[in-house]
Amino acid sequence: MGSIKMAAGKETDKALARAARICRERGGKFTSQRQFVYRLILDADRPSGAYELLEAMRREIPGVAPPTVYRALEFLLEQGLIHKLESLHAYVVCREPGHDHDGQFLICGRCGQAQELDDHSISGSLQAVMASQGFRGEHQMIEVMGRCSHCEAKGP
Ligand SMILES: [Zn+2]
Ligand SMILES: [Zn+2]
Repeated sequence: MGSIKMAAGKETDKALARAARICRERGGKFTSQRQFVYRLILDADRPSGAYELLEAMRREIPGVAPPTVYRALEFLLEQGLIHKLESLHAYVVCREPGHDHDGQFLICGRCGQAQELDDHSISGSLQAVMASQGFRGEHQMIEVMGRCSHCEAKGP
């Protein structure tokens, strides 16, 4: 995983404004520390681990303790602003925040990028299979490891 750089830009501002609106609608407090963590994940070009986020945060706010980062991550997950990739122990920003959804991620083992799909037909057929098994699913996130088209084009 690469290091996290802070970037400013229209896209970042737009995403931050949207995240703030979602929190407001849900009654969640988008504090400056939570915004900060969200922005770090937003600006990273690949999924960010909690420790990596803590390090990046400490560069701006010296002395930040790990629970601060973990609490912020928990909040962002609750608000549906980020997803946790269990296989990488890392976090990515949700591409379609604001509604709770199941999802699928295509994770490149070479460059580390994770692409979010929100394919309802996959979720739908999984629901049907679960129902036929009498299984009550609470959370589903499919993580497919492989190689992205960009890395695939580069050859072995
Ligand atoms: Zn999402
Ligand atoms: Zn790749």
